[in-house]
Amino acid sequence: MTSITVTAPDGVPRTVEPGARALDVLKAAGVLNNQVVAARVNGRVVDLARPLVEDGDVAPVAADSADGLEVLRHSAAHLMAQAVKRLFPDVQVTIGPVIDNGFYYDFKRGAPFTPDDLERIEATMREITKADFRVQREEVARADAVALFRQMGEEYKVEIIESIPEAVVSLYRQGEFVDLCRGPHVPSTGRLKAVKLTTVAGAYWRGDSRNEMLQRIYGTAWATAKDLEAYLQRVEEAKLRDHRRLGQQLDLFSLHPIAPGSPFFHPKGAVVYNTLVQYMRSLYGRYGYTEVITPLIYKTELWRTSGHYDAFREDMFLMAVEDDEYGVKPMNCPGHCYLFASRKHSYRDLPVRFADFSRLHRFEASGTLAGLTRVRSMAQDDAHIYCTPEQLDGELAQFIAMTREVYGVFGFDRVEVTLQTRPEKFLGRLELWDAAEAALRRALEQAGYAVTVLPGEGAFYGPKIGFDFRDVLERSWTLATVQIDCAMPERFGLEYVTSEGSLATPVMVHRAVLGSLERFIAILLEHTAGHLPLWLAPVQVRVLTLTERQEAYGRAVTAALEQAGVRADLDDRNEKLGFKVREAQLQKIPYMLVVGDKEAEQGTVAPRRRSGETVPALALAAFVDQVRAESVPGAPGPAPAAGT
Ligand SMILES: [Zn+2]
Ligand SMILES: [Zn+2]
Repeated sequence: MTSITVTAPDGVPRTVEPGARALDVLKAAGVLNNQVVAARVNGRVVDLARPLVEDGDVAPVAADSADGLEVLRHSAAHLMAQAVKRLFPDVQVTIGPVIDNGFYYDFKRGAPFTPDDLERIEATMREITKADFRVQREEVARADAVALFRQMGEEYKVEIIESIPEAVVSLYRQGEFVDLCRGPHVPSTGRLKAVKLTTVAGAYWRGDSRNEMLQRIYGTAWATAKDLEAYLQRVEEAKLRDHRRLGQQLDLFSLHPIAPGSPFFHPKGAVVYNTLVQYMRSLYGRYGYTEVITPLIYKTELWRTSGHYDAFREDMFLMAVEDDEYGVKPMNCPGHCYLFASRKHSYRDLPVRFADFSRLHRFEASGTLAGLTRVRSMAQDDAHIYCTPEQLDGELAQFIAMTREVYGVFGFDRVEVTLQTRPEKFLGRLELWDAAEAALRRALEQAGYAVTVLPGEGAFYGPKIGFDFRDVLERSWTLATVQIDCAMPERFGLEYVTSEGSLATPVMVHRAVLGSLERFIAILLEHTAGHLPLWLAPVQVRVLTLTERQEAYGRAVTAALEQAGVRADLDDRNEKLGFKVREAQLQKIPYMLVVGDKEAEQGTVAPRRRSGETVPALALAAFVDQVRAESVPGAPGPAPAAGT
């Protein structure tokens, strides 16, 4: 065989014999250390011990890189499976993929694993790490692999291997453990030092509820103990910030099995919800939107025309009434098309911008429902714009400006923009799609955004821009979206009279800034840890009396605040001040006003911010002015408390 020429990151071409390993080249180039877990050969991540078979580039893959972490995490899944088999020889292994931040492995076992089991598995994993077994790849004929796993009693592996078309499959061995796997893996189990098992859950074989239930163990793995620690801390932080927990603590909303996935907003939650709606309404005047109210339930004829009946029926609530089938609306657009068609339009009255805060219902499977983020009942700050093709660029620019204004008010400064293009299943004409994608791209370029294109991710009726906001826990959420509709205007036969007197189809734009209000509230709660900005706080000021002597004055202060439009309440219970302050802080109320004898005599208040910071006593009227000024959306108000 002829020799091979490969180039490592030092740029020196090296001639090696076929069969030389990637790690030999990296070593010769001086770039091999114990943080290198794999090699990249001509762009592909492979085992360090993989023999080189062709000319090209060889580079190290570091444990803390995205590819390195994937190798680590998948190797950790093997490590866990090995430990499980040692402790529970009767358990059968199935699959163990990598997921965000970690991995899992599904096992066939009658009973679920207990927390005690997890501890024992972790202890055994540590022993296997310490033993530092070499992880070795072998390639075998498929029939031999089937025989091997059949003899081991691993029926699931046999089923998997039998479904693989290739004649040769690869196995990975470490110590007594062998698994079917494409790899790559770390060179030895000693590399897996920062691994932790996190939770257990039931899961169906191949994700199908008709199949048997398996036991899934989740874990996380990192390049260093420090990274693992930081991750576990983020998870703890996320638990503290969980909007379901905060929703209960702050008495904002609840869910009940009587209406799965359909939140009940409590009085305080309704304040947050309605204040958000009012804020968006306040912008609508300026941005030229008109609000409309449209039906909730339509005959399915509407959903057939819109295309939802074919593309979205599984996600809708349908019902038979009299001799017709009806559907509850999962979105407002088709109703708005009827509204648009209810009168004649000329180019002179375009654009028309219909805004609608209507409730929407989507059927989401019970198992996927989660707090306010995955619901069956929701409302959006939804609107549809009908305009001429010439007006489209201006409408998109105006929407981007509005989104920037709203994100500015919430302080969402870390924003990434995606352009989601035509999916495989789509409605409408190709040239409309091309023109729409070009218009969206142009709008983003003019607004100065760096754009990430997500091919095929658009909706079935049009391409889409998403404005993704990154929260304090480094999670990314798509909030604002704008879509150009390539199907509905034609399907509904919408038209307007052009300046030449001919009839033309208007362009239809779907857009929302906050997205679903439910989801937006969840994200805002988690991002702020419940320290809502003053203008959104359900209770903005709590008045705290020092003793019962100030009861009357406390009531007068509270009444004066309410008169001035400030959301205030009074805590005149016969409790120690420290206790009352602590409770107001737990409620994350932006301002506390402590009133004692001195304040009552002088007609003043002594404000204390939820951060713990105190403000010198001032006249009540002066405080009212201050709170009102700070309650404007986006105004700098009292800072949140440190921590959560
Ligand atoms: Zn594997
Ligand atoms: Zn729409």
